[in-house]
Amino acid sequence: MSATAPTVKPRDYKSAVKPVWCPGCGDFGVLNALTKALAALSVAREKVALISGIGCSARLPAYTGVYGFHGIHGRALPMATGLAVARPDLTVVATGGDGDGFSIGGNHFLHACRRNIDMTYVVMDNAVYGMTKGQASPTTEADWDGSSLTPEGPGMDPVHPLEIALAAGAGFIARGFSGDPNGLAELVTRGIGYPGFAFIQVISPCITYRPEQMEYKHRIHPGFEPTADRREAFLRLMDDDYFTTGLLYRKERPVWRPVAADAANLDSIAAAFRVQAAQ
Ligand code: SF4
Repeated sequence: MSATAPTVKPRDYKSAVKPVWCPGCGDFGVLNALTKALAALSVAREKVALISGIGCSARLPAYTGVYGFHGIHGRALPMATGLAVARPDLTVVATGGDGDGFSIGGNHFLHACRRNIDMTYVVMDNAVYGMTKGQASPTTEADWDGSSLTPEGPGMDPVHPLEIALAAGAGFIARGFSGDPNGLAELVTRGIGYPGFAFIQVISPCITYRPEQMEYKHRIHPGFEPTADRREAFLRLMDDDYFTTGLLYRKERPVWRPVAADAANLDSIAAAFRVQAAQ
């Protein structure tokens, strides 16, 4: 064995908990990619925190051997934000799905992009609410008629997460595919290494409620070439076919950190409260 071979393997980042995802669910590939990325970075398990909201994909932290928090619907980013601010020594990764992240969590997504706190957000996008048995989500096609709640389709255009991230100021924007764990691991590795908010949309088929998505493996193709030119990235997205993967945009900018997050400031704030309480 080479003296420079990594001492940790992807399996070292997995837990003994057996995933309850449907056999063939794309989320398995994302779990594999994430653990590959952590192994590639050789980051200590106790220095990683995975934060999720609610949904099939939000179960992911339980299947890893790092610290994790399975929170409430749409709130992965606020929780991850608080942790990343309080513990900048940690590698913070938020995970979830399209319903969790772009519906009830949509507001938090906007502000996480513009705030630029150092964390990575991996969204497993299958354009459906899988855990609640197959309703249309914010990324569902207007004419998808697979739900009895929207028999003729939701009737409105889906949101485009990459366009939103770019418009809101995110500095690292990428798209991967769950069926390409090595390519996705590379994107996650680069996202974690990016000093700021890194957003990765993962096309992750729901084989139970969107069985037609099993064909995606024939349509996915690499194609994004990373640029630091925001205008160029927007123009690239004008021709997006949904199946193009890769790093679209990468540009560094200052990481936001609240003034009160510094220990000295917290001490002075606490002292001010004590003075006021004594009066
Ligand atoms: Fe995966 Fe869909 Fe099954 Fe949920 S319902 S575990 S998203 S295949």
